[in-house]
Amino acid sequence: MYLKKIEASGFKSFADKTLISLDGKITCIVGPNGSGKSNIVDAVRWVLGEQSVKSLRGEGSMSDVIFSGSKSRNPLNVASVELVFDNSDHSLNIPYTEISIKRRVYRSGENEYYLNNEKCRLKDINNLLMDSLMGKESFNIISQGEVDRLLSNSSYDRRIVFEEAAGILKYKKRKEEALRKLDRTHNNIDRVNDIISELELQVGPLKEQSEKALEYLENKKGLDKYEVALLAYDIENINNELDNNRKKKEKIDREIFDLSLSTDNNDSKFLQENKEIEELEKKYNSLNNQLFGIIEEKEKLDAEINILRERSKNNNDEDKINDEIRLLLEKKERLNGSISIISKEISSIDKMINDEQEESLSYEKKLNDLKLKKNILISDFSTHNKELISLQHKINSLKEEIEQSGDMPNSVKKILKCDSLYGIYNTIGNVLTTDEQYIKALNVAIQFNKNFIITKDEASAKKAVNYLKDNHLGRATFFPMTVIKERYVDRNTLDLIKNNSEYIGILSDLVSYNNEYDAIIKNQLGIVIVVSNIDAATNISHLIGAKYKIVTLDGDVINVGGSITGGSNYHGKSSITMRQEITNLENRIKLLNDESDEISKELEEIDKDIIDNQDVLFDISKKIVNLKEKRDTKKKEKESLESEYDKVDKDYSSMESIKNNSVSEKEKELIKLFHEKKSYKEQFENDINLLKREISSRKEKLEQQQADDRVRLSKIRSLEKNSKELEITINRSDVKLENMLNTLNVEYELTFERAKNDFSLDIEPDDARRKVELYKANIKKIGMVNINAIEEFEKVNNRYLFLTNQKEDLLKAESTLLEIMNEMDEVMKEEFYNTFIKIKEEFNFVFKELFKGGFADLKLTNPDDLLMTGVDIIASPPGKKLTSISLLSGGEKTLTAISLLFAILNIKSVPFCLFDEVEAALDEANVIQFGKYLNHYRDKTQFLIITHKKKTMEYANTLYGITMQESGVSKLVSVKLENHEKIL
Ligand code: ATP
Repeated sequence: MYLKKIEASGFKSFADKTLISLDGKITCIVGPNGSGKSNIVDAVRWVLGEQSVKSLRGEGSMSDVIFSGSKSRNPLNVASVELVFDNSDHSLNIPYTEISIKRRVYRSGENEYYLNNEKCRLKDINNLLMDSLMGKESFNIISQGEVDRLLSNSSYDRRIVFEEAAGILKYKKRKEEALRKLDRTHNNIDRVNDIISELELQVGPLKEQSEKALEYLENKKGLDKYEVALLAYDIENINNELDNNRKKKEKIDREIFDLSLSTDNNDSKFLQENKEIEELEKKYNSLNNQLFGIIEEKEKLDAEINILRERSKNNNDEDKINDEIRLLLEKKERLNGSISIISKEISSIDKMINDEQEESLSYEKKLNDLKLKKNILISDFSTHNKELISLQHKINSLKEEIEQSGDMPNSVKKILKCDSLYGIYNTIGNVLTTDEQYIKALNVAIQFNKNFIITKDEASAKKAVNYLKDNHLGRATFFPMTVIKERYVDRNTLDLIKNNSEYIGILSDLVSYNNEYDAIIKNQLGIVIVVSNIDAATNISHLIGAKYKIVTLDGDVINVGGSITGGSNYHGKSSITMRQEITNLENRIKLLNDESDEISKELEEIDKDIIDNQDVLFDISKKIVNLKEKRDTKKKEKESLESEYDKVDKDYSSMESIKNNSVSEKEKELIKLFHEKKSYKEQFENDINLLKREISSRKEKLEQQQADDRVRLSKIRSLEKNSKELEITINRSDVKLENMLNTLNVEYELTFERAKNDFSLDIEPDDARRKVELYKANIKKIGMVNINAIEEFEKVNNRYLFLTNQKEDLLKAESTLLEIMNEMDEVMKEEFYNTFIKIKEEFNFVFKELFKGGFADLKLTNPDDLLMTGVDIIASPPGKKLTSISLLSGGEKTLTAISLLFAILNIKSVPFCLFDEVEAALDEANVIQFGKYLNHYRDKTQFLIITHKKKTMEYANTLYGITMQESGVSKLVSVKLENHEKIL
């Protein structure tokens, strides 16, 4: 293999396209100083991948190598150099007999590489040349003044040359690459380890939570199945019972109504009848009185007739009659006066009775109004009571739910209930209330610490801990009030977030609690920020460097450090939510109770008014009765006076007639009257008898009716009692039914029909109830669950397993890399050592030949560490003592370096060598030695030598000259040895 041609265009001083054709032997390039010879070395180096501008004797960027213009020529924009190798011996492992490597650079600094005119990467070129000992830095290219590099002061730097010769650079590169890979692998292992340990922290608790959630779901499924089926079953039964009771009640109410219809107004009817009977009795009495009068009159008439008959027998005394007539007249006048006084008194009593009756009417009206009002209040009271029963029922079921939710660990319950402890206040969760809108945020914020128990001081907490231990009741966390300090969100953070429109506040400011717990609540909630939604939460968390916990109104959480917890909420209502509901319900109950009290008071007052009114009415009726009695007495008195008057009047008339008429006429008249009275008497007796019968029959009838009425009333009362009881049962069933339907609807989102259809009871109801209790007990035992944990655990666990596998792969890769590196180290050591030993021997030979005597040797500075050892050179020209190479003359140094170079070339054949004035420091005799030695390589190695030495030129097969005829642009000319001086 050899370099066939170098073609440069626009590269440094080679502005024009310049082609240097070479054969496989020795070519010398000659020319005056500054003509551009060294630029050829730069060009070759550049194509072989040189990246250092300095090495190419430039200063700025790689575009410095582009022809920069001269007096007569404009600068160019692109530089290009192509090297063409003959590879017919396939020294380079590539199936081409000719290989072209080209590099191009543009003013923009953009580089292009071509391999056989195909664009390629620099790496491709490096890989191709790696094993050929002709890399850009290989010892086969020696730039001007650089031959002494071989004797470099540092023994380690010198080692590089031996490494190049030993061909272990490729191993070194591979090792470097392996090291980089190893480093990357380590980094990856570290990263994976970090993530794995973070995941390990999550996996354990999540697994536990997930198992708990699965167990909960299983029990919940069973519970739902039987509870819903039981609910459907119970609803149907209660509904049937309700229907029956309603029908029963309707029937009873209708019966009451019918019975009431027949009793209604009976009282007034009875009163009327009584009145009428009384009237009849009065009439009877009066008839009786009249009868007595008639009998009396009849008897009187009988007596008078007898007197007349007597008188007619005796002579009558005129004066005696007149006296009697006068006496009778006086008596008549006196009686008349009395009658008129009594009549006046009677009419005055009548008026009084009238007035009292009017007053009585007005009170009756008032009484009716009061009764109406009372009925309305009673109905309100009953509505209130109905609602109260329903509310109390709801509270009871909420309390039961709290009790069963397992929200509070058993240990905490026991502590709160224990009487022998002191200074135990309550749990944090139990002392907090908040508005409906913050409930979710509060729930998640105190999800884990709501059951911490607030205690008076450390001693009371300690006592409680001992109590738990002694009784094996589990664990609990205590917050002694004397120890726990407030915590706050710092001012800088608050300044950062306070103007954010989604920021709501610090949670401790959004909850209500008794002031004595201030420090504890601020300790727990004073560092929790509440914002409206998850987007705002992530923004604010970034803004404050995830320094504080942030919760959203929806219950999502950004934890300190930035991890996010969210999704759907915990299953079921939390105890806080339920307690809040209970408080709302209790408030409503209080309101209802207050209203009921108010109604009761009003009812009491109305009852009092009713009684007062009734009393007044009773007094009035009593008064009326009295007045009537008085009136009757007066009437009787009047009647008696009138009858006396009539009698006196008759006596008077009979005396008058006695005075005026004959006895016989008088007697006739009296007898007539007597008979009249007699027939009157009989008629009266008849009437009285009839009346008596009527009265007794009506009285009897009335008594019967009143007895019937009493029976009806007692029946109504008993029916009303039944109706009332049924109403209470119906109300209770109604509330129960409503609650059950509500439970179906709210908790299971099911209608009754759906529940009945989808959840039929396949076992006995009692068995189902036992199962429900069992599931409930299980769920209570399981306690709080996080349903999301199932999915989260699967996700985290999968990731954990995946990363664990990846870690194993990485560890395998790591050990494979270490193995490879060890193997490479062994190869490198061996190659290095073998090559070193060979060069060491060869060096002594070549040195002796070039110096015509003397002695040279190579030594390893640290033979025990073949990978790091440096190489020392020992050179002793003939007649001189072994001495440090730094003490050699310039020429001696150069010849020693050349000796080493040739020694290496003898060991490792190189396709071509490019020497730029390597022999410049040698005297003519030594140049001849150098030239002669070149002949050793005539058929093995191609040499391209830049030189000013004529003796060197003599050994060249081809001679090229570089000139700069056109100022600033290098030109290649072919020269003959005898003409070379012309060029110089
Ligand atoms: P000596 O015999 O003194 O070692 P030389 O023949 O090796 O000289 P070089 O060092 O190869 O000369 O060439 C240097 C010349 O190349 C200088 O004249 C310099 O101006 C020119 N040169 C270097 N870079 C550029 C460039 N980018 N554009 C134009 N000319 C350049």
